[in-house]
Amino acid sequence: MIAKTYKDMLSAKSVIRQLSEFATARGAEIGYENVFDFSLGNPSVPVPAAFTDMMIKLLKESNPIDLHGYSQSLGIPSVRAKIAASLNQRFGMDYTQDHIFMTAGAAGAIAHALRCVTEPGDEVLTFAPFFPEYNPYVNLSGAVLKVVPPNTEDFQINFEAFEQMLTKKVMAVLINTPNNPSGIAYSEETIKKLAAVLTEKSKEFGHEIYIISDEPYREITFDGNEIVYVSNYYDYTLSCYSYSKSLSLPGERIGYVAIHPKCPYAKEMVVMCGQISRGIGHNCPASIIQLAVGETCGLTADLSVYETNMNLLYDVLIDLGFTVVRPGGTFYIFPKALEEDAKIFCEKALKYDLVFVPADTFGCPGYFRIAYCIDTEKVKRSIPVIRKFVETEYP
Ligand code: PLP
Repeated sequence: MIAKTYKDMLSAKSVIRQLSEFATARGAEIGYENVFDFSLGNPSVPVPAAFTDMMIKLLKESNPIDLHGYSQSLGIPSVRAKIAASLNQRFGMDYTQDHIFMTAGAAGAIAHALRCVTEPGDEVLTFAPFFPEYNPYVNLSGAVLKVVPPNTEDFQINFEAFEQMLTKKVMAVLINTPNNPSGIAYSEETIKKLAAVLTEKSKEFGHEIYIISDEPYREITFDGNEIVYVSNYYDYTLSCYSYSKSLSLPGERIGYVAIHPKCPYAKEMVVMCGQISRGIGHNCPASIIQLAVGETCGLTADLSVYETNMNLLYDVLIDLGFTVVRPGGTFYIFPKALEEDAKIFCEKALKYDLVFVPADTFGCPGYFRIAYCIDTEKVKRSIPVIRKFVETEYP
């Protein structure tokens, strides 16, 4: 016998991974430079030199016993303190190190946040379109993920559907702004309304409803806009951050959970994260990477290329008559396909070596995602190909 839960997952292969494998195989045939692979959300700009220098400095100048020793189970205290100070300065919060728990990226942060506020069988709501990994994140924690249908008008929250699904069983709402896959950043109005609904329903149900705010794209915003920091609007927020996209180091697995200081259980939850960690075998990110992000707080890779790429694609999509909401951040854009079935649309695009991801698994059939974390030069070369594809297949 082997575990059925995980065995069954093997048959449900990720569409994104399949498309990416297609792109690699096709690249071997015709040269990867000729395949317009818009499938994966892997950062395309290098980690900043200052970060690499810091890693080298840590390796060269630290006492190796200290550097490579076990980190404290909640993360290295000095790093947690630096992150708290940096968040306070930027968002006017009152975090201390006791509100911060270091994790292996956003995935690790969400794994802990979910377990802090749900028991098996509790419901967690998220909003379509959503990151498909939320299915295993939530369902394997024992909680049950329910997806609120999208508001395709502007991809802000569909409050009518949300309020219908917000029953007493719901212990947490998992949001992601700026959003993968829509690229949309929630407006201040949306966040305020969400906070108001949750405050009212928490009273009615006699229990808190938490916001788990997944924020790996917090630094990638467009048109000069700062992100609306969710914790500024709702005390029961667990902010889940990752350096994967902002510093372009997804392979290093580093992030944190920051729990709102006004949440009555905040400090207790951080200590609980240490216990959760024991159970799921997480046991902290590597010491050196914790120290490096602590020493370079506020540093980001040069993220401007994503806005350049977004503008190029947005303009051509609009020109070709696509229905598309202008992204507020991330490195994704999310147009409506030119036929009802986005899977067929994306299959046709493959004939032109354009690799797009149909949005059925994002909970938004009929749409598709373009991940433009690729070189601008390649985005430019893709434009006549996109034109040819659309003008030939959808005259
Ligand atoms: N949440 C969203 C919305 C993402 O897009 C990703 C990664 O692409 C993650 C979480 C996981 O991030 P990490 O690599 O930091 O675990």
